[in-house]
Amino acid sequence: MKQQQQPHCTLCGRGQKDVPLLLQGMEGHVCSECVTQAYQVVQQEASPSSRSFKGDKKKGGARFELVKPIEMKKYLDQYVIGQDEAKKHLCVAVYNHYKRLMQPKTDDDVQIEKSNIIMVGETGTGKTYLARTIAKMLQVPFCIADATVITEAGYVGEDVESILTRLLQAADYDVAKAEMGIVFIDEIDKIARKSDNPSITRDVSGEGVQQALLKLLEGAVVNCPPQGGRKHPEQKMIAVNTENILFICGGAFDGIQRHIANRLNTQPVGFKKGASFADEFDEQNLLRYVSSQDLKSFGLIPELLGRLPVLTSLNPLDAETLLSILKEPKNAITKQYEKLFKMEDIDIHFDDDALLYIVEQAMEFKLGARGLRSICEAIITDAMFELPSQDEIKEFNVTLEYARSKFEKTALHRMKKVA
Ligand code: ADP
Repeated sequence: MKQQQQPHCTLCGRGQKDVPLLLQGMEGHVCSECVTQAYQVVQQEASPSSRSFKGDKKKGGARFELVKPIEMKKYLDQYVIGQDEAKKHLCVAVYNHYKRLMQPKTDDDVQIEKSNIIMVGETGTGKTYLARTIAKMLQVPFCIADATVITEAGYVGEDVESILTRLLQAADYDVAKAEMGIVFIDEIDKIARKSDNPSITRDVSGEGVQQALLKLLEGAVVNCPPQGGRKHPEQKMIAVNTENILFICGGAFDGIQRHIANRLNTQPVGFKKGASFADEFDEQNLLRYVSSQDLKSFGLIPELLGRLPVLTSLNPLDAETLLSILKEPKNAITKQYEKLFKMEDIDIHFDDDALLYIVEQAMEFKLGARGLRSICEAIITDAMFELPSQDEIKEFNVTLEYARSKFEKTALHRMKKVA
């Protein structure tokens, strides 16, 4: 009775001594902890992601305001150049995936299955970037996991559960949010079964990992260590249901062209050309014709492929595309430099032939668009070092001569010569 007369929080009922701060209002008090919680709720409600992914428990499903596939692609187009086919597959799969989450729980027999995705494409062609961009658009938690560091449970390396730890971290340990996130598993090709390996030891980093991934991909409640790894045996596990997590796997699958060509009953690129084949198929880009069968011949087990029903490929990037990547996307590299220099009150301009030079160098490195950034960095670093101290300079032109002279002095260029 006495306690009730003490000032207390009208919302949680705790007294002044039990809370850090008690704020007085017209007709009562409210504690700082309730204010913080209320603020978080308001923030969550106001954010577009929560509006889109708010569960509607009464209807037994989730309510979404999903962006339509065409709009999704338009969004991707602003950031990712080309790769139309992959974008289309990705948008449809993502759209269906989130539509699946919306379906009310009914008794009918039609259950929409998960549409996990596998993307095949050379390094630096935008696989990770596509997945990251779509997650950004949907405002869902996103994480990248590297398949090469995972081993079968009990062996040196990471357990598959560590993938979910990353997703949890991306979702600020909000389990419900993480359970609707997107996971990108990179280098999936590196865990191919080593079928021609005569060793009698277990394939703990290949087929073993594929087996371990199965339960994650198809949907299961997985206990994962919140801090990851096995270093903290005392940590309390968090149960994460992977049923509604979208998995996108990516890999370069070096040499898969041979399997594709074999299937298409012809010779791989660089060998004898079959006349009829050349007429029918785009020999330079055999990846376009990749099928689950080829991935199986490459060493992915059928069970894993069964859980990755959407298969798409990315085109290698030609010079024209690389040039567009330098200039056009919303956060194109050249635009980033412009912004950086603008902060110093300097207008930077890249001559067309300087950009072409950068593209040529990137083509030689065969790192796709990934090479562009390091080449630009190598060329611009001196200017970024010196110009901020030279107040009189207000304009800076990157000419072909400048680009060439700077690049030829760099370690990158020397590396190219050695190669
Ligand atoms: P990978 O296919 O190896 O996963 P990434 O998606 O990581 O390649 O690409 C590396 C970087 O190259 C990206 O961060 C992005 O900046 C750029 N990039 C790659 N492909 C494209 C593209 N098609 N359009 C725009 N930028 C791209």
